Amino acid sequence: MIAKKMVKYVEGSSVIRAMFEEGKKMAAKYGAENVYDFSLGNPSTLPPKEVNEAIIDIASNEDPNRLHGYMNNSGFEDVREAIAQSLNKRFDTHFSQKNILMTVGAAGGLNVILKSIIDPEDEVIAFAPYFGEYNNYVANFDGKIVAVSPNPPSFQPNIKEFAEKITPKTKAVIINNPNNPTGVVYSEKTIKELAKVLEDKQKEYGTAIYLIADEPYRELAYDGVEVPYLTKYYDNAIVGYSYSKSLSLPGERIGYLVIPDEADDFENLIAAANVANRILGFVNAPSLQQLVIKKCLDASTDISIYDTNRTLLYDKLTSLGFECVKPQGAFYLWMKTAEPDDVAFATKAKEFNLLIVPGSSFMCPGYVRIAYCVEKAMIERSFAAFEKLAQSYGL
Ligand code: PLP
Repeated sequence: MIAKKMVKYVEGSSVIRAMFEEGKKMAAKYGAENVYDFSLGNPSTLPPKEVNEAIIDIASNEDPNRLHGYMNNSGFEDVREAIAQSLNKRFDTHFSQKNILMTVGAAGGLNVILKSIIDPEDEVIAFAPYFGEYNNYVANFDGKIVAVSPNPPSFQPNIKEFAEKITPKTKAVIINNPNNPTGVVYSEKTIKELAKVLEDKQKEYGTAIYLIADEPYRELAYDGVEVPYLTKYYDNAIVGYSYSKSLSLPGERIGYLVIPDEADDFENLIAAANVANRILGFVNAPSLQQLVIKKCLDASTDISIYDTNRTLLYDKLTSLGFECVKPQGAFYLWMKTAEPDDVAFATKAKEFNLLIVPGSSFMCPGYVRIAYCVEKAMIERSFAAFEKLAQSYGL
């Protein structure tokens, strides 16, 4: 007998993961080269060579008791200090190791910060379309997620509706920039407007509202577009970062939270996050990966590979008559479906061996997400299938 809450989670278990599994079955049936799996955000670029070099160096030369032992729940002090200094150099901020808490990826970081601040019935606002796991993360702590409606065609947050949805119970707002699933980068103008609304509402209600920036895609931005660093615009900003996408290390589970000195109730917040990391069962982020990160702060993957895929796919799909948002970041293309029912559209696509994710998974029906972090050759091979899909809708 599993817990009642879990029954619901299992039934609603990620459509994306299910599709990934189905893709593997289809590949066995039709041959891998005849299935076009655009379902999962699994990086296709290689981790930089510095990662392997660091692993070998650390395994060979680090004191084994330090390498494999317990540590402060927030992580190694020297790693956190190195990250703080690297951020200060890049963003002209003033962090030190006390502002950094190493986490088990962005997912671990989000759960840590939400556990630290959410009481039952507290509200957390997210802008649709958004990463569906936010619903589960907020529910983990009996919070209530409040969605702001999608804002096509720009998919920048709808500021007016946002202001209307803030209540005295609003404890946090999550934004994801660059965005999964739209590929949109929220502009500096948007961030300033969000910050202004939040400042005003904090004053009006006498509350603290934390703005949580979920930033696993920060490094994946194209055409020189700037991704604003949130702590520079709003005192109660908390940044959740991850190396899953930026260094192609999603299986290694490594990231960090930035909690600035300026955040409301800073000392207690840091103490709570530290304890949350422990009692959620993470205890601390993986020790080897923390030490690897310290050696790879200036390393990067080759994002030109994603950039090439982005243009290739966008040009093809728009030429076929599909309406697409041109991605500025991350590795997803957001496309309007040729019929209102996005699930039916994705099911139709499957007839042509195309695996794409319905927008309903991101609280935004009428669209699909196409992950282009795949082999370029697969994108090219998929064109005939997309042509058939377009024809089947009379495009
Ligand atoms: N947030 C968003 C928007 C994501 O797309 C993902 C992963 O795809 C995560 C968080 C989780 O990332 P991590 O692997 O670092 O836990």
